[in-house]
Amino acid sequence: MTFAEPTTDHPTSTDAAGSRSVREVVVSIETLEGAGFLVHRPFPVGDLDQIDPFLMIDHMGPIDYAPGEAVGAPDHPHRGFETVSYILEGEVEHEDSAGHHGIIGPGDVQWMTAGSGVVHSEMPSRRMQTEGGRVEGFQIWVNLPAAEKMTEPRYQEVPKARIPSVELDEGRALVRLVAGRVHGLEGAVQTTSPILYAHVTLQPGGQVDLPVASDMNAMVYAIHGTGTVGRTDRSIDQFELAVLEHDGGSVHLSAGPDEAFDVLVLAGVPLREPIARYGPFVMNTRQQIVEAFEDYQSGRLGAIAR
Ligand code: MN
Repeated sequence: MTFAEPTTDHPTSTDAAGSRSVREVVVSIETLEGAGFLVHRPFPVGDLDQIDPFLMIDHMGPIDYAPGEAVGAPDHPHRGFETVSYILEGEVEHEDSAGHHGIIGPGDVQWMTAGSGVVHSEMPSRRMQTEGGRVEGFQIWVNLPAAEKMTEPRYQEVPKARIPSVELDEGRALVRLVAGRVHGLEGAVQTTSPILYAHVTLQPGGQVDLPVASDMNAMVYAIHGTGTVGRTDRSIDQFELAVLEHDGGSVHLSAGPDEAFDVLVLAGVPLREPIARYGPFVMNTRQQIVEAFEDYQSGRLGAIAR
């Protein structure tokens, strides 16, 4: 698969003429995940099963835990896709069946290619379990092409300090680039198929255009605040997802005069392959899902050594 480059690069342009427009705005549901932690989830919900190649967006929290209250996701398997954790506040401690163990803190990213399968746990750190505190972050699921679903599992752990960033619009726009290429930045993570994953924070009055390759599906999720997206400056609120048309070479974002606007911009080239998904497994056929369950139940995905 080739990586389609944006045809133009205009780092300080605030011209919305080339921006994609918003096709629809999706409102997140609130639900409980793992052992009962709050997430805001724009999809998969109802008829919106995926935005190819993205299978799920979970905005964890924001929630303030009292001492002893914080909960996470104890041991569970994954196969056939990638789980991408990006922490804004709090600490997640992870362990897995291949012996990996670590803590992801504010601004850090863990891009896990589950591939043929891992068993892992994602828990509040011991300190957070004891002391409590605020938890906010994202877990996003990125599908793997059929040919890569049974690849060797791997991790890309990227601390905050290694995530490239650039200030635009005279300092009123901060772009942190987890994956992809925009405005001269190269994302911190190597992706299996072409993905753009940017965290953009606009100060009041700030605006920015991010180039998006024409063959990518693209979307903007409002983490905090209210702002506008796209060619016609469509307004979106916190916890809403703007799904973009393919009618431009960039996405235009702007904050109102009085409020900061904090968003994720996600884009990827669609895989256009059949999906069979059940819980923690995402494959191409129902038979492959059955095999995943059999492999998990017979211990072939391993277990966390404790
Ligand atoms: Mn998991």
